[in-house]
Amino acid sequence: MAGVIDYTKVKDTHLYRNIGIIAHVDAGKTTTTERILFFTGRKHKTGETHEGSAEMDFMDQERERGITIQSAATTAFWDLEGKSYRFNIIDTPGHVDFTAEVERSLRVLDGAVVVFDGKMGVEPQSSKVWFQAEKYRVPRLCYINKLDNIGADFFKSYESIVEHLSEKAVPISIPVGIENEFRGIVDLVKFKVQIHKDDEGKVIETADIPEDMLAKATEYRNKLIEVVADVDDDIAMKYLDGAEISTEELTAAIRKGVLISKIFPVMAGSSLRNKGVQEMLDNVCRYLPSPHDKYFAKEDPETKEEKIYKDEIPGTDPKNGEIIVRKLDDSEPFAGLVFKLAVDPHVGNLAFFRVYSGKLQSGSYVYNSTSGNKERVGRILMMHANHREEVKEVRAGDIAAIVGFKDTKTGNTICDEAKPIQLEGINFAEPVVKFAIEPKTKSDQEKLSEALGKLVSEDPTFKAETDKETGQVIIAGMGELHLDIKVDILKREYGIEVNVGKPQVAYRETITAKGEHRELLKKQSGGAGQYADIAFVLQPLERGEGYKFVDSIKGGAIPREYISSIDKGIQESITAGPLGGYPVVDVQAEIVDGSYHEVDSNTDTFRTCAYYGFKNAMKACSPVLLEPIMTVTINVPEDYVGACTGYLSSKRGLIKNLLQRGKTKEIIAEAPLSELFGYVSDLRNLTSGTAAPNMEPSHYAEVPRNIMEKLLGEAK
Ligand code: GDP
Repeated sequence: MAGVIDYTKVKDTHLYRNIGIIAHVDAGKTTTTERILFFTGRKHKTGETHEGSAEMDFMDQERERGITIQSAATTAFWDLEGKSYRFNIIDTPGHVDFTAEVERSLRVLDGAVVVFDGKMGVEPQSSKVWFQAEKYRVPRLCYINKLDNIGADFFKSYESIVEHLSEKAVPISIPVGIENEFRGIVDLVKFKVQIHKDDEGKVIETADIPEDMLAKATEYRNKLIEVVADVDDDIAMKYLDGAEISTEELTAAIRKGVLISKIFPVMAGSSLRNKGVQEMLDNVCRYLPSPHDKYFAKEDPETKEEKIYKDEIPGTDPKNGEIIVRKLDDSEPFAGLVFKLAVDPHVGNLAFFRVYSGKLQSGSYVYNSTSGNKERVGRILMMHANHREEVKEVRAGDIAAIVGFKDTKTGNTICDEAKPIQLEGINFAEPVVKFAIEPKTKSDQEKLSEALGKLVSEDPTFKAETDKETGQVIIAGMGELHLDIKVDILKREYGIEVNVGKPQVAYRETITAKGEHRELLKKQSGGAGQYADIAFVLQPLERGEGYKFVDSIKGGAIPREYISSIDKGIQESITAGPLGGYPVVDVQAEIVDGSYHEVDSNTDTFRTCAYYGFKNAMKACSPVLLEPIMTVTINVPEDYVGACTGYLSSKRGLIKNLLQRGKTKEIIAEAPLSELFGYVSDLRNLTSGTAAPNMEPSHYAEVPRNIMEKLLGEAK
């Protein structure tokens, strides 16, 4: 019988582990997560390793298959050495090409397990996420999976981690046997073997290390101690003196090193064969941080120096922008960060959030300090492997979902209205590429708009709209791959097949000079007349400032009631600029003069006049096209750096930086999106498949004149 779990049993937040499982596609993230939920989902014998299998009756196969992990955060429990730990497993995207998706999960987790394929070792995406995790100061454990697979090699995979990711990676376990013979691990800390007697993780025998493995085990234990000695002087002394180092001492020193990312323990396993997973869970408890052990960094606005915080989180006071700090404690005012929105078929809109300080009760209100709105907290839910649990209250360190928010977005801070704080948000770029889609079956039209509505609400970097002129459905996102995946989701999850159009760059238009224009709308022959007269002064704004309307009318040249119609008219006009019909950005429109007619003027005539007047005014202000510039990151062996930089230069790219990443190089460059269609396969061809490229939107910049003319010519 699977035991009944008491969900309130872990009260001490030092026993919380908010973790993510990250991996290159196919390394076994899904299988590993399923196994974690499987093993944590049953009553575990307290206090010992996993010998007491009589007690661990298995959930039936049926239930095992029923475990799905679609939730953005799943809560589970694990017992180790007399203590119960609470895990919140935060889902990380399978495709790490979407920086925003990865970063938002990295923002709220405290530690991560990076899963590697035991045959492939470090793969491009695992290395990308690794360095992203570094940026967010997320301590990591490495789990080399699939050791039962033909061709698996633990030691080669481990060496690839050292070569590409960090010299501070070191095994804390090594496999017993390999491929079909893989049957357990040597625990280098306890210096014992753990032999799995079956493929289900039921019977695990702890024994002394057999004679024939002793030399290898000793070699690797010494390696481990050498790495640990770098962060712990006592261990260093004992090691030099040849003195005995106890399991407890070594465990504590490893933990210390992991928390400051000076040690990355490497473990052996095969999730499919249920070997190494329970041992990994033990190590998550032992080594990964609790919420209190996580480091945060924030730049001081005055000194510009980065300050490090621990057991407290820095934010800013929304009133004056000054830094304020909250202890990660229940007694502080409430503050939390929303990191994912999702639509649940049973309960509706869910906002997943992490509590950093204080407590939050269902039925209460919170202040969204990012938007300035107040929101009612309907129900609070915690997600478990195969059910959800309603809770009355959550506290510092918890991760849960709120039902009932109306106007809160991913990355928003929610807090106590009386003590507002703004935590570091999550920035999402505007979509830079789009294409038209249409359902293959006409009758799917309605289903499509419903599905797109859900996808849009769940992913802040994805947009969908209907083109007013053509009636086509246009989807927009961060890159071709991003949109391809949405199309795939439509097919797999919603059963809607669509035809897709050619990808198009999301250009914009703006002006480069200040200028004036007067627009007169006058039709006064026969019937009801029309009259409106508006004098515009347009001027360019800084990138990102958008549209600004200024009313400088004096002495009633245009009556009050028409001014807002003029603003509306311009707002309609800026959706399609005069050059190529692209949205207009970063322009200030000032209305300085005009005239009206007692009978023939009305709100509509002024709106229409403003609509056309703005387009004509823009023509007088040296309009230009803006194009999205992408930050391109390429991880590649040294030998191919030249080929990659040459390629980028031919694509109007600018090399910004060249970094050493382990033994490979990381090229960071900027290039226009319009030049980058097909760049992944181009680069793979140029580098014999060794390049791991990635791109994300950086900013908008003027399209060079000759290219602009060509583009606009083609468009016509
Ligand atoms: P993900 O893409 O990282 O989520 O990977 P999955 O968990 O879906 O695994 C990809 C494939 O590898 C599946 O066919 C799994 O059955 C297989 N797989 C996962 N773990 C293991 C393992 O430990 N051993 C073997 N032999 N195959 C595995």
